[in-house]
Amino acid sequence: MSGDQLESQKMFQQTTHEPLIGDSSPAMTYCNNALNIHPDIAEQQRAEDAQRLLAAIVSSSDDAIISKNLDGIINSWNHAAESLFGHRAEEAIGQHITLIIPPELWKEEEEIIAKLRKGIRIDHYETIRVTKDGRKVEVSLSISPVRDQQGKIIGAAKVARDITRQKAMDRKLQEAEEQTRHARDQLGIILQGVTDGIIVYDKDDHIIYANEAAGQMTGYESIQGLQQERPPEDIIRHTLTDEQGQPFPIAHLPHRRVLAGEREAQATIGYSQKVDGPPQHWSLVKASPIYDEKGDVLFVITIIHDITERVLAEQRKDMFISMASHELKTPVTSLKGFVYVLRRRLDQQKDERGLYYLSRMDTQLDKLTKLVSDLLDISRIQMGKLGFRRAIFDLDMLISETVENVQAATSTHQIQIVGKTEAHISGDKDRFEQVLINLLTNAIKYSSKANQVIVHLSRDQTHAIVRVQDFGIGIDEVHQQKIFERFYQITTSDGLTYPGLGIGLHISKEIIEQHQGRIEVLSRQNEGATFSVFLPVPQEEALN
Ligand code: ADP
Repeated sequence: MSGDQLESQKMFQQTTHEPLIGDSSPAMTYCNNALNIHPDIAEQQRAEDAQRLLAAIVSSSDDAIISKNLDGIINSWNHAAESLFGHRAEEAIGQHITLIIPPELWKEEEEIIAKLRKGIRIDHYETIRVTKDGRKVEVSLSISPVRDQQGKIIGAAKVARDITRQKAMDRKLQEAEEQTRHARDQLGIILQGVTDGIIVYDKDDHIIYANEAAGQMTGYESIQGLQQERPPEDIIRHTLTDEQGQPFPIAHLPHRRVLAGEREAQATIGYSQKVDGPPQHWSLVKASPIYDEKGDVLFVITIIHDITERVLAEQRKDMFISMASHELKTPVTSLKGFVYVLRRRLDQQKDERGLYYLSRMDTQLDKLTKLVSDLLDISRIQMGKLGFRRAIFDLDMLISETVENVQAATSTHQIQIVGKTEAHISGDKDRFEQVLINLLTNAIKYSSKANQVIVHLSRDQTHAIVRVQDFGIGIDEVHQQKIFERFYQITTSDGLTYPGLGIGLHISKEIIEQHQGRIEVLSRQNEGATFSVFLPVPQEEALN
């Protein structure tokens, strides 16, 4: 016999089927129930004690506890039942249980009674009951059959818990979940329609969302395929290439860099389906983090923007520049040769006028030669093939010779050298000369109202430092990093762009960086500019 059966049995011990008369306390109701006079006083005392205890428990319960007979007549009704349903015990006891069942659910009571007759217990049955003032309350019912001493089912004990608030909360929660799901579905539909690939990674580098476009861009027919791939290295079916055509290291993928602590990362990545084949697709991949309230990375969002068309157009342009500069090089070189021959003839003929025109022609030819060789350098840089002939050379000597040459070609500015580096540099002397000429000619070109350029020379523990200072138009901060990019030229606020191709500084930066140095600019608009070159001095010199 189960515990609750035992209790119910005690409750209805020797029950009369008469409705229990309303003692105001339900506890008393149960006590009144125990009418049996046992010959053994001690046994009777124990039974009474047990019943008093039970009555006290029932009375103080927060759940409504009601008992009824098999005809549905209520024969006990505790405090909690009074407060839940509004009927006082004396009003409820003796009434049919339909007192608290809404008419549309009376059929339910028949089913409950049928189950009870078979001895089946009902657990946490959620239904509606009605209060004295007609309010509907949502309740959870647990109903146990009550048996007499012979084990015959004679009634039921019903525990009713008010779940109206809980249900209301459940509904609110469900609504909120519904809304979130709806919003997520809508967002999903929107993101699926976006042409950019979108991948969301969790902090452990697992993909938690990817749209269709991302699937295609990373070589999958479906995003499920992309999402299921593990470990993350495997998610890229393609061979990845950087802008220089070198293999793209997985650790440098933008989302990896953000997971490693960068605030934002981007990279241009070429995707090729064949190992060692040229990329068929190019993307600009940008990753940014989403932080939790503690400031730790929660997710990384990666946007993959297809730039195949742009990159292919750039490649065609690079190819054209490379071919054009190669084609131009031969005629320019032979023109230079003919100028030399012609000068000798005109010299012999003492043709002053002819010599004057020839020297003008030679100057223009030099400009053309410089242009062609710059364009060639640009193509070489693009292909990673800018060659260097390294040797140790005296930097101060190179600078003074170069300054002298540039000075000879300019009458507008005085170029002054201040200080010394006293450094012997290991590198390509001609390439350094090229950088210096570029900085000096820029200083002159962009300071037409000034008449001075200063070359400051110094050194620190590890570097020789060359600074070229002018007093010209200067460079606004927004352009200062970009001027080292290929073909970048500044258009002034009045729409003026100086003649040039915007490649000199790009080549200079490449040369300096190939020598493990760096180049920087310090400037303000209309306040001149200072370009600084830091060149590493060989170890044995650095120690001196
Ligand atoms: P360009 O052949 O156009 O001079 P560069 O690569 O040498 O190409 O320079 C890029 C741009 O940087 C120039 O177009 C110019 O706007 C700016 N710039 C370079 N040097 C200076 C300078 N000393 N003062 C002001 N602007 C400069």
